[in-house]
Amino acid sequence: MWMRSRAAVLTELEKIEFKEITIPDLEAGEVLIKLRACALCATDYKAYSKGHKILRPPVVLGHEIVGEVVEVAEDVEGLSKGDRLAIGGYAPCGGCYYCLRGQYTLCENMFKPIGKSPDGLPILEGMIFPGGFSELIKLPERVVKFSSVKLSAGISDDEATLIEPLACVLKSMRLAEITRSQNVLIIGGGPMGLLHLLACKASGCGKIFVSEIDEQRLGIAEDLGALGVNPRERGVAEYIKSHTGGRGADVVFVDVPSINALSQAFSAVRKGGVICLFAGFPPREAGASVDVNLIHYFDLRVVGSFGYDPVSFAESAGLLEAGRIDVKPLITHRIRLDEVDEGFRLMAEKAALKIIVRA
Ligand SMILES: [Zn+2]
Ligand SMILES: [Zn+2]
Repeated sequence: MWMRSRAAVLTELEKIEFKEITIPDLEAGEVLIKLRACALCATDYKAYSKGHKILRPPVVLGHEIVGEVVEVAEDVEGLSKGDRLAIGGYAPCGGCYYCLRGQYTLCENMFKPIGKSPDGLPILEGMIFPGGFSELIKLPERVVKFSSVKLSAGISDDEATLIEPLACVLKSMRLAEITRSQNVLIIGGGPMGLLHLLACKASGCGKIFVSEIDEQRLGIAEDLGALGVNPRERGVAEYIKSHTGGRGADVVFVDVPSINALSQAFSAVRKGGVICLFAGFPPREAGASVDVNLIHYFDLRVVGSFGYDPVSFAESAGLLEAGRIDVKPLITHRIRLDEVDEGFRLMAEKAALKIIVRA
């Protein structure tokens, strides 16, 4: 018997319909959860407002999830009804060329369309169905194994939704090979930039600079321990060099997808430093050019980082559960499942940091 669930369905760009949908039955290894909370993310907003390569309407968005187990397939071990889980939207296969080399986000068997639900919603390989903004969510076996953690009573639903975005941040820090006492510049003081700030602080980084044009966000970054700099008011590179013996930042995270952010990064990084492209650029800006001689003559390392992997997901859950990172200041709004469109409106106005959808 198929199950019915109510969900916020993106039926066309900028249009969410709250309606009943069908959830196919559980297959081997799968788990069904009831939504408790799901945070809105910039990726959701992009899919809602501008379109997304994979998440095309009709589709249910949402991937920063906390849910409660309501049913497990017979062969699932270690999970039972009532368990509270933090869940990410996808998980790698674990056996392809890239997975065997630990490069899980490049998995060859992930994100591919493998079917459609009776309502025409996409079923994608290695991904949850239908998405986080649904009362019921089906987890494929590999999400159960690699991208979910059982939560203790000590962490709230709202905080635990940030395990997924923090896991993305931790993976980027691993790829940037950040080490203790390094000076870091984070370009962008939105939710991801602030998570970078908190994670860098918890990792024992040295000076942490946040570049942000919005004064309110800049103020929050400063309250959380950053040296804030508004590029509309002063030269970012000069400011950072004046605080780092004239050298510049050891590592720069580009959390804003803009050409300005990119040129800030190249001017503020020190010789031999690292630039991590954390934000995905829209096609219009993605062709931005850089002076490659800066990379060559100054031994720069430019790395990209997309998403989280099983390693960083576990690490993120550990840090939040242990109280090593306090994400509460980032949670500014709570809405109901039938108010997802209102959440996107708040994001459009940059009036919110993290918005949590509560079931
Ligand atoms: Zn996200
Ligand atoms: Zn794989």
